[in-house]
This record gives sequence, C-alpha cells and structure tokens, in this order.
Amino acid sequence: MIGEIDEVNGKSLVFEPAAKPVPADERARLLVDPGFGRVFTDHMAIIEYDDQKGWHDARITARQSFEMDPASPVLHYAQEIFEGMKAYRRPKGGAALFRPDANARRFVQSAIRLAMPPLPEEMFLESIRELVRADREWIPDTEDGSLYLRPFMIASGSFLGMRSSTQFIYAVIASSVGSYFKDAPSLSLWVTRDYVRAVRGGTGEAKCGGNYAGSLIAQAEAIRNGCDQVVFLDAIEHKWVEELGGMNVFFVFDDGSMQTPPLDGTILHGVTRDSLLRLARDMGLTVREELYSVDQWKADAESGRLTESFACGTAAVVTPIGSVKGVDGGFTIGGQSSGPLTMRLRSALVDIQRGDAPDPYGWTEII
Ligand SMILES: *Cc1c(COP(=O)(O)O)cnc(C)c1O
Repeated sequence: MIGEIDEVNGKSLVFEPAAKPVPADERARLLVDPGFGRVFTDHMAIIEYDDQKGWHDARITARQSFEMDPASPVLHYAQEIFEGMKAYRRPKGGAALFRPDANARRFVQSAIRLAMPPLPEEMFLESIRELVRADREWIPDTEDGSLYLRPFMIASGSFLGMRSSTQFIYAVIASSVGSYFKDAPSLSLWVTRDYVRAVRGGTGEAKCGGNYAGSLIAQAEAIRNGCDQVVFLDAIEHKWVEELGGMNVFFVFDDGSMQTPPLDGTILHGVTRDSLLRLARDMGLTVREELYSVDQWKADAESGRLTESFACGTAAVVTPIGSVKGVDGGFTIGGQSSGPLTMRLRSALVDIQRGDAPDPYGWTEII
C-alpha cells in the first residue's frame, strides 16, 4: 500500500507503512536487553539511483530483503559505503539526533572516494528523520539505550566490467541497541604487527565496508591473544598509533593535557573524536593532534606520564583502555581503572546527546 507523499520540507519521500509491524508486547520484550545490532525495526528507508534518472523512488517502507542480480558490482568489487549514528529518546518525549549533518557530509566524502554518486545532504537527513519518525517506538527507554541508524549505499545493477556502476541503492536500517561493550568496563588492546588498516591515498578516511573486511583478520588475532580489540599502527613505519578497527583513540597525560593522532589521510574523521576535542578545549584542557608512537605510549604508561587512554566512536561512545599487548611485554594504563578525565568527557558528551544537559553547540536535532 502506498501512503501519501510526505509533506515535511516538501520532500517526496513516500511512506509505505509495514503491513505486519512487530506487535507492541513483542517489541517490548525485544527492547529489554537488545544487545548491539541484532534487534531491527519495522521499516527502512530506500532511495534508488541510476545514471538516467538520478536519485528517485525515495520511500520509507517495510524492512525487507533486497533482490539483487548476482553480477551486482557490490558483490564483486565492494563498492559500498556506510554511516553510523544514533537517535536518542528525550527525557520529555520525542527523539534527538546528534550532529546528523556531520554524518551527511562524511557520507558525501565517502561516496566521492568510492566513485559513487554523492547523495545530497538534505536527502540523507530527510531519510534519517522520516525513518526515526516511523520507528520511534523502537528507541529503548533505558539509560544506555538508543536507536542505531545505519545508512549505506551499494552498487547494484548487473555488470562485471571494471568501472563504477551506473546503478546504486541507498538505504537506512535501524537497530535498537544497548551498550556496545556491555561487560567490559575497560578494553584490552592488541597491537598488530602483521596487518595495517590504511595507507595515505587508500580508503582509510572513507567509511567503506572494505576497510572493515580488511581489518577482521587482525581483530581475530586480537581475540586469539586474549584482547578485546585491535589497534593499528601506520603502514609505513609501523610505529605511530592510528586507531582501532572502528574507533578513534585518545591519550591523557599527568599534566591534564590530551592527545590524539592527526587526520593525516589514514584516520577516519570520527564525529565523536571531533566532539570530544571541542568539549575538551572548552573545558580549558590542552589538546594536541599529534603523532604518538607505540613505544612512547608504553614508556609513558610505565613512567606514569600517561594516566589514561580511551577509544571513541558512535557505537561504543567513550570506552577506557585498560591494557595493551603486542608491544614487548605489554603494559597497563592507570591501574586499569576508568580514568577521571575519560569519564568526565564521556558524561559531558552523553549528557548533551541524551538531552540531560544544555547543548550550547547546536549539536542535537529534535525530531
Ligand atoms: C565510524 C568509525 C569511527 C568512529 O566515528 P564516529 O563518527 O565517531 O562514530 C572511527 N574509526 C573508524 C575506522 C570508523 O569506521
């Protein structure tokens, strides 16, 4: 059944309500302990693209499988990009997005790098807003719950030649989530020596599926070595700390200053990273975006100069790093407890995201 054209902002996003939405009592049961990325909502957003028509057939529709030709380029050449963002339940009702414009912009940058048609930012934003409106009941009403939104774009069509596709599907799915590292108060990291994530000129700055496929073997190595997550070093000197498979990294020192690797072409431009830099500077902290070597990290942790380290990203927010293995002997950080500055920054960010504190930056968009 085709619903009426949505009039909000004059955008032609058609709403086709799900014929068989999950019953409310079943949904309530699913939202008690949703975990991460396994409970999905009733709807999805889709916008299609081809070279002739451009972007067309924008709709919110029942969540469903794709029908794809086996020669779809995404299946062979990994022409795919994605985003990750959250909608939060507001204390006084309604929902809020956090810096959705930053995700829209980054999605355009990722598309350009992967030779895909950039989705106009306003279309991206409208698809997100409308999906949250359709599925707002799926936002868990818990302290750490949220609706994780996963916009993505794939090369569809049927063609095995080596050039960019002429057909694409943009879609957004949504997943009710709790906290990402539920049972890990702090992370143990594995420094991989055998694998790198990104090299300048490569795709490290783009949020594309291929980056993740290439990092999974290193993540498996981390698990084999008893660690939670892998941390990658630079691809040239194998010396400078870059980031985790899907999170940026920060270092905190005993003089109260903070450091994170610079955006030099290999590191994903995290929205969380950027927001924390701003919050820290506005708290009066000294913040450096400078290279930091893994050997220095160990030396500083052992001398006590380094007091805290943490990883950050939309999914896991801010998570303390407790120990690091894979550099001779390994080392622990600040007695493995969550550091005070890490927790202070985390609260400052989460309180804005959830509407528990004022938002002087205009970062939140109420839906
Ligand atoms: C998504 C992602 C991040 C975190 O970015 P946020 O915008 O903060 O969620 C960090 N590193 C990688 C490799 C990522 O894919």
